[in-house]
Amino acid sequence: MDKIKMITPLVEMDGDEMTRIIWKMIKDILLTPYIDLKTEYYDLGLQNRDATDDKVTFDSAYATKKYGVAVKCATITPNAERVTEYKLKEMWKSPNGTIRAILDGTVFRSPILVKGIEPFISNWKKPITIARHAYGDVYRNVEMTVPAGAKAELIVTKADGTEERALIHDFKTAGIIQGQHNIDKSIESFAKSCFNFALDIKQDLWFSTKDTISKKYDHRFKDIFNDLYESEYKDQFEKSGISYFYTLIDDAVARVIRSEGGYIWACKNYDGDVMSDMVATAFGSLAMMTSVLVSPDGVYEYEAAHGTVQRHYYKYLKGGDTSTNSMATLFAWTGALKKRAELDHIPALNDFADKLEKASIQTIEDGIMTGDLASLSTLPNKTMVNTETFLKEVNNRLIQLL
Ligand code: NAP
Ligand code: MG
Repeated sequence: MDKIKMITPLVEMDGDEMTRIIWKMIKDILLTPYIDLKTEYYDLGLQNRDATDDKVTFDSAYATKKYGVAVKCATITPNAERVTEYKLKEMWKSPNGTIRAILDGTVFRSPILVKGIEPFISNWKKPITIARHAYGDVYRNVEMTVPAGAKAELIVTKADGTEERALIHDFKTAGIIQGQHNIDKSIESFAKSCFNFALDIKQDLWFSTKDTISKKYDHRFKDIFNDLYESEYKDQFEKSGISYFYTLIDDAVARVIRSEGGYIWACKNYDGDVMSDMVATAFGSLAMMTSVLVSPDGVYEYEAAHGTVQRHYYKYLKGGDTSTNSMATLFAWTGALKKRAELDHIPALNDFADKLEKASIQTIEDGIMTGDLASLSTLPNKTMVNTETFLKEVNNRLIQLL
């Protein structure tokens, strides 16, 4: 078989620890034997971020803007321990935060479903994708403790110097206050990313807030989504046979639990933080969660939702056998390759990525899986394999499908 040719380079962001090991294995075993892989490579491994004063992270994000599609390996977000461990010049910021800020994107997380790993919610048959707004609210809050006898007010000083005031509370006894904000532009970007992604994957979009209680703040989110939908997306949604549906967050939670899945659920920042962990856990395994950052102008960055799996890496460094699940990282690659195939009109590449996904799911459904899944799977016969054997088993099935 001739190797599949690519046209536009895929932005490749390499990363850290166990996922860096998996990254290379995936390329060597499953990609480069079949594809003339054309990537623009950025090494986001912590050592290189430090060596380049983190310039490499910024460069990789700008390249993603330029080419439109990236695939990213998990990376270490340094803390004090990592600064010592890697002798860093600085406690560099989270690469995901930097990339997200440059692309102004929204993160969509979806589980990979396989037979044998059953969701805890037995009626969930299709993936539920969570979209989390990634700016503001409680994550950019200002908080104070308030002594007894104090009065707290909200004051907005406008550009012309005039003020708008509102009493928050007259504190007879001590208490606490919190100020939150968001920005119309950020909410609009979030909404656009959600509408575009729904059209892209042809699934209904749900959005929920608490606008009955928060009549200005949450209501603003609801209005921005609604106005954009009516003015720019309604026709396209109708043509695609999908719908946009707004409901209160508590009603959404009840409906999600009763549903069979198969839609995107857009959430405000805090709701998305909480609900994405709930949904990921209920689907069975963090190692099976994929993640894609979508910008409002249609730029895509694919990755796994999990981290660098540090504990497994230390075992690997000591020469121990590891059984780390590579599915989410593999699906980051197939997602990115499919998007490149779509944009550049390369059906062979799309077909290959589809078959690679099928082969990997089939491997697990045949009972061959990594340790994390072996402990969850309800299949009667299962074999736990190490990181590399799993990928080789996927390759055996891929060869059959090709
Ligand atoms: P983690 O890498 O997601 O791993 C936490 C635990 O979850 C692992 O120890 C392992 O459990 C299990 N796990 C996660 N992914 C797995 C997989 N693919 N296969 C099998 N088991 C898996 O989270 P962490 O240990 O808290 O973070 C490690 C580093 O990752 C940190 O430096 C953090 O900054 C970084 N991080 C990066 C990203 C990103 O780049 N998107 C996201 C999150 C965290 P057992 O040990 O029980 O087997
Ligand atoms: Mg969280």
